[in-house]
Amino acid sequence: MAQRLIIIGGDAAGMAAASQARRRRDRGDLEIVAFERGHFTSYSACGIPYWISGLVPERDELIARDPATFREKFAIDVRMRHEVTAIDTERREVVARDLGSGGEVRERFDTLVYATGAVPTKPDWARTDTGGMFGVQTLDDGAALRAWLESEPRPRRAVVVGGGYIGVEMAEALIQRGLSVTLVEQAEQPMSTVDPDMAELVTDAMRAIGITIRTGLAVTGLEETDGRVSAVVTAEGPIPTDLVVLGLGVRPNTALAEAAGLPLGVTGGVRVDRRMRVAGVPGVWAAGDCVETVHRVTGMPVHVPLGTHANKQGRVAGINIGGGYATFLGVIGTAVTKVCDLEVGRTGLRERDARAAGFEFVSVIAQSTNRAGYYPGSRPMTVKLIAEKPSGRLLGAQIVGWSEAAKRIDTLAVALWNGMTVDDMTALDLGYAPPYAPVWDPVLIAARKAVDALSASDR
Ligand SMILES: Cc1cc2nc3c(=O)[nH]c(=O)nc-3n(C[C@H](O)[C@H](O)[C@H](O)COP(=O)(O)OP(=O)(O)OC[C@H]3O[C@@H](n4cnc5c(N)ncnc54)[C@H](O)[C@@H]3O)c2cc1C
Repeated sequence: MAQRLIIIGGDAAGMAAASQARRRRDRGDLEIVAFERGHFTSYSACGIPYWISGLVPERDELIARDPATFREKFAIDVRMRHEVTAIDTERREVVARDLGSGGEVRERFDTLVYATGAVPTKPDWARTDTGGMFGVQTLDDGAALRAWLESEPRPRRAVVVGGGYIGVEMAEALIQRGLSVTLVEQAEQPMSTVDPDMAELVTDAMRAIGITIRTGLAVTGLEETDGRVSAVVTAEGPIPTDLVVLGLGVRPNTALAEAAGLPLGVTGGVRVDRRMRVAGVPGVWAAGDCVETVHRVTGMPVHVPLGTHANKQGRVAGINIGGGYATFLGVIGTAVTKVCDLEVGRTGLRERDARAAGFEFVSVIAQSTNRAGYYPGSRPMTVKLIAEKPSGRLLGAQIVGWSEAAKRIDTLAVALWNGMTVDDMTALDLGYAPPYAPVWDPVLIAARKAVDALSASDR
C-alpha cells in the first residue's frame, strides 16, 4: 500500500517539499495531499509590492504553479481553501476544515510536513473591520489592497506603518501608483536591517522620491468615517489617510504545532535538525517561515523569514522524504532590496549584532563607484565591512548604491560563508572592465580599508 505524505501550507516551503518528494517517489509508492487555506499555491509573496505598483501587471504572473498543475503534472492532491485545525501525532492524522462548505475532513498520514509560514504582527488598534486596513503577507492580502486602490472614492493618501524592507517596498509601490505616502517608524530610522549610517542613505533616497518619513513615532489608533479609515492616531496628532498598510514584522505560525506538542525553539519557531526533521517527532518535518534555524556566524538560533530559505528548506525536506539525503546548514543573514534605483544589500552581522555576540571588531566604510569613473552611468557605491579583531575574519557587510550594488553582496556572502579574512579578500580575483567596475572593485577597496583599520588597531 502507498504511504501517505500530508503537507500543511501550499506555498514556497510546502510545495517545494511536495515536488521534491514526488520527483523521487511515484504515486504508487507515495500519495501526497497538500492543504492550503488560501486561494493560491506556490505564489511569490516577494512580488506583491511590484504587482501593487503596477510594474507586474497581472496577479497570475506571481503564481509559479497553480493547483491544477500540481494535480495534473505532479499527482499531488491539492485541497484549496482547507484549513488544518488539528494534528494528532499519536493517531497520525490531521483534521481540516473546508472553508467553502464548512465541512470537516480527517486524513491519515505516515509523513507530515508543517509549512504554515509566518503570522504578521498586528497591534490591537489594527484588529478592526474598518475599511482600508491591509497587511501584505499573502496574495489574498495583496488582492484586497489592489481592489481598494481601484475602488471609488479613489484613495489618494496612504500611511505605511513600519519601516522594515516590506514597509519600504510598499511605500515605494504606493508612491509609484501616485498616492501621497507617509511611512511611520517607531525607531529612529527605517531600514534597521542595516546599520544606521547605511540606513541614512536609504532614508535620503526615500525622501527624494517623495515619501514622508516620520520616525520615533508610534501609531496608537485609527480614526474612521463611514466605516473607512480616515487617519492614524499618533502622539504627535492624527495623520490623515485613505488606507493603512501594516509592515510590522512577522513571527512563526506555530499555533497548530504547539497544540500538537511539536517542540518550539527560543525564537518561537519549530525546532528542526539539519535535515528539517522536527526534533523528537518521527515522521514529522517542518520548513520555511515557521521554523527556527541557526546563524552560522554566532552559532545562535534565529528566525529569518525569507523566501530563499523557505524554498531551500522545503527542497531539503522533500529530498529526504523521497529517500535522498540533503541538509540545510543555517543562514548568514543575506538580504537585498531597493528604493527606486538605490539598491541595498546586507550579509552577516550588523555592528549591534557583533557587539551583542561579544565580538571585538573594526568597521569601515569605503566610498567607490559601480563602474569606472569615466564610464557613462558611473554612480556612487558605499560598502561597509565589519571584521573580527585580531583575526580579520569577515563578520558582516552592507552595500548601498546604484546598479550592480545589491548583488555584489553575494561576493561578500560567499567570503563570509567560507570564513575568509579581509586580508584574504584583498587578493580575490574579481572581474574588471569599465562598464562593470572600477579597476579596484568596491569590495576590494573596502577589504583593503578593513586591513588598514586592523593594522591601526592593536591587532
Ligand atoms: C511583501 C513581501 C515581500 C517579500 N519579499 C521577499 C524577498 O524579496 N526575498 C525573500 O527572500 N523573501 C521575501 N519575502 C518573504 C517570503 O515571501 C517568505 O519567506 C516565504 O513566502 C515563506 O514561505 P513559506 O512557505 O514558509 O510560508 P508562506 O509563503 O507564508 O506560506 C504558508 C502557507 O501556509 C498556509 N497555511 C497556514 N496555516 C495553514 C493551515 N492551518 N492550513 C492550511 N494552510 C495553512 C498559508 O495560507 C500560506 O499560503 C517577502 C514577503 C512578503 C510578505
